[in-house]
Amino acid sequence: MRAGIGYDIHPLVEGRKLYIGGVEIPSSKGLLGHSDGDVLIHSICDALLGAIGYGNIGELFPDTDEKFKDARSEIFLKEVKRILDEKNFEIINIDSVVILEEVKLSPFIQQIKRNLSLILELPIEKISIKPKRNEKFDSMGRGDAVACFTIVLVKSKGSNYNEHGANP
Ligand code: MG
Repeated sequence: MRAGIGYDIHPLVEGRKLYIGGVEIPSSKGLLGHSDGDVLIHSICDALLGAIGYGNIGELFPDTDEKFKDARSEIFLKEVKRILDEKNFEIINIDSVVILEEVKLSPFIQQIKRNLSLILELPIEKISIKPKRNEKFDSMGRGDAVACFTIVLVKSKGSNYNEHGANP
């Protein structure tokens, strides 16, 4: 078993669509980033990559690469899932906290979990997403940014694993 932690934050600005966990959330503002700025998917990718010792999202999908400009972040998660499969790891569970002030995320949580469940081929009960407000404190609390923390647990299914993680 190996645990991983992921964190991400993006500015919340006018004129962008808001994607959280691959689901478009109705909002006058969206997340600014090289890709669609989906903090939840980015933090899940980093947590999974961290758990298997395979670098981070910025190394795999650099923001200097035009290919990823305005990309939907689901493609990153699909690639991370492919790497986990290739390295013979299974996901035990995912637990995330999304810190977002102005938009009520709770009506969309089931849809977000279903979407992540499909991409990761993981039963929905193994995915936890908890929306949280920062009660007007700091950039998240002022509605200027959205942040996300994620922890994951993964399990090695076979011989590709050694004590150094998934890297050869
Ligand atoms: Mg990011």
